[in-house]
Amino acid sequence: MESVILAIEDLTSRRNSLIFSRRELITQEINNITFRVSSVGKTPEQTLSRELQNLRESGHLYFLSRGEYYFVNNKIEIAQLPSENNPDFNNIVEYCVKFNKLSFGNLDADQNFQIAKVRKGQDQIRKECINDYQKKCAFCNIEDDKLLIASHISRWADDIQGRGDLRNVICMCSFHDTLFEKGYFTVDTNFNVIKLYGGSDSIINGLIDCSPSLRTPLRFSPDIQYILKHHNRVGYQ
Ligand SMILES: [Zn+2]
Repeated sequence: MESVILAIEDLTSRRNSLIFSRRELITQEINNITFRVSSVGKTPEQTLSRELQNLRESGHLYFLSRGEYYFVNNKIEIAQLPSENNPDFNNIVEYCVKFNKLSFGNLDADQNFQIAKVRKGQDQIRKECINDYQKKCAFCNIEDDKLLIASHISRWADDIQGRGDLRNVICMCSFHDTLFEKGYFTVDTNFNVIKLYGGSDSIINGLIDCSPSLRTPLRFSPDIQYILKHHNRVGYQ
């Protein structure tokens, strides 16, 4: 698989486009691809098809129609996405987010040009995050879709690299999102709830006390680096 990835890297950087065709890959790169011993007996083209399928399943390659592919080796910046008028635009965003490979980076300079892409990316991250937490708040089991948020651990405005990273979002209800954002509670590096609120409001206390820990998501648990940034921001040592 590695030699196929290297060949695609060469091809796409030469073409300065993440989209390439099967034909181009074969005519320009087949001699540069060394196949593993296990593929003896099959033709190079058959083996290549198998390798491309593996890359699709591992989040490296989105299959377009007409024998074309979109290469998703590293994180894809918003600006690298095809135009939102491209018929495959929505599917490509969904594919990138599914494998946690969409990156928003620093949008300030050209945000207006990217607004549709940013919106689609954010919608998709919310969907993926909510599914990852099985459509419930990670702290209280609220299931009402209108109240569920993909809440950034390290805030969007504070953390350019962490924007949209599925390891930097937790599915929370609006109530827990607000309490977390205001630093009324955090989680430790084992994802246990740490109460920081010292007031006597019984509803606030009830919300923070309702779960001893964050419910583990199916795929993307929070990254400790973001949790430490939350600790830093809310003054928890
Ligand atoms: Zn909640």
